Amino acid sequence: MTASGSKRVLIVEDERDILKLVTHYLEKEGFRVLTATTGIEALKKIQEEKPDLLMLDLMLPEMDGLEVCKRVRAAPETAMLPIIMLTAKAEESDTVIGLELGADDYVTKPFSPKALVARAKALLRRLERAPAAESTRYRYGPLAMDLGRHEVRLGEKEVLLTAKEFGLLEHLLRNPGRVLTRDILLNAVWGYDYYGTTRTVDVHIRRLKQKLPLLDEAIVSVKSMGYKLKEL
Ligand code: CA
Repeated sequence: MTASGSKRVLIVEDERDILKLVTHYLEKEGFRVLTATTGIEALKKIQEEKPDLLMLDLMLPEMDGLEVCKRVRAAPETAMLPIIMLTAKAEESDTVIGLELGADDYVTKPFSPKALVARAKALLRRLERAPAAESTRYRYGPLAMDLGRHEVRLGEKEVLLTAKEFGLLEHLLRNPGRVLTRDILLNAVWGYDYYGTTRTVDVHIRRLKQKLPLLDEAIVSVKSMGYKLKEL
């Protein structure tokens, strides 16, 4: 199956000409295209249609792309939705904020639709290649995690982690390069019914870094959102 094979893309763009052009190219490449022209409409369609990829313009009426991005990442059921931002050159600082809010990639206007389609395919391929839930081994430089043996090694040496530290590390290694909100991590490691606060996540991340100093710089804090494990 190709990366585009029946994948559904939601394009959020208020400029009709761009919307039409991008739709045309994506359909030609085998994507199924959904469209929205405002931030509010985008959130509604994401919830109802559950697209595989979001192409999100920054400057939108009603609610801008940054706010849409933030809300998508904050909701557990859409937190992992791949997002490509469409930005203008003048919005460079917003682009940085967008990436911090969890967008996966961005394309600067004016872009060629061909280049955008290529980015979309590359992103989907990258995510498909990412270890699936059933994967049992992860590597990160000299760090190796074996889920089957419930073991973490740094080179030859075994590192002893608590169950929660182990769970956190597993979730980070499974999603390198992606912003994981404290809520996502809390739900993934402690479970939905856990009766604690997101501060718990901070405390455990700190302990994980103390036990594995190589993660000190590799796990970056994303302001007011959560954490990200830098891609190697
Ligand atoms: Ca716009």
